[in-house]
Amino acid sequence: MKEYEKVCIVCPVGCRLTITEDSNSNNGYRVEGNNCPRGEKYGIKEVTNPTRVLTTTVKISGAHHDRIPVISSDGLPKKKLFECMEIINDVNIVAPIKAGDVIVEDILDTGVDIVASRSMDKQ
Ligand code: SF4
Repeated sequence: MKEYEKVCIVCPVGCRLTITEDSNSNNGYRVEGNNCPRGEKYGIKEVTNPTRVLTTTVKISGAHHDRIPVISSDGLPKKKLFECMEIINDVNIVAPIKAGDVIVEDILDTGVDIVASRSMDKQ
């Protein structure tokens, strides 16, 4: 029976979770140490398909800055983050850009977009 120790990062409390394989439970795991149901969901996801929201920057032309901050619209599988960064590093967009504009749609067929997290006017 496998057991994992994780810290829940859903809120600042940071509960220490113990996630144990449990064939008797509905979802195959038993989670202990969580102060709320979100911790159970996070713990199971963390040992089955861990994801992270990606924040980074992309190159922009015709603006006051050379790069613009972007964020993923949802969590991306941790194992695909490096590959996502390779795609994002090749992107070069042109001003003006509005916060929320989709910069890369459905990156790596994950169903997650990379969107601008701020606006940037033309220079
Ligand atoms: S289990 Fe609930 S209270 Fe604890 S860190 Fe996660 S979200 Fe916060």
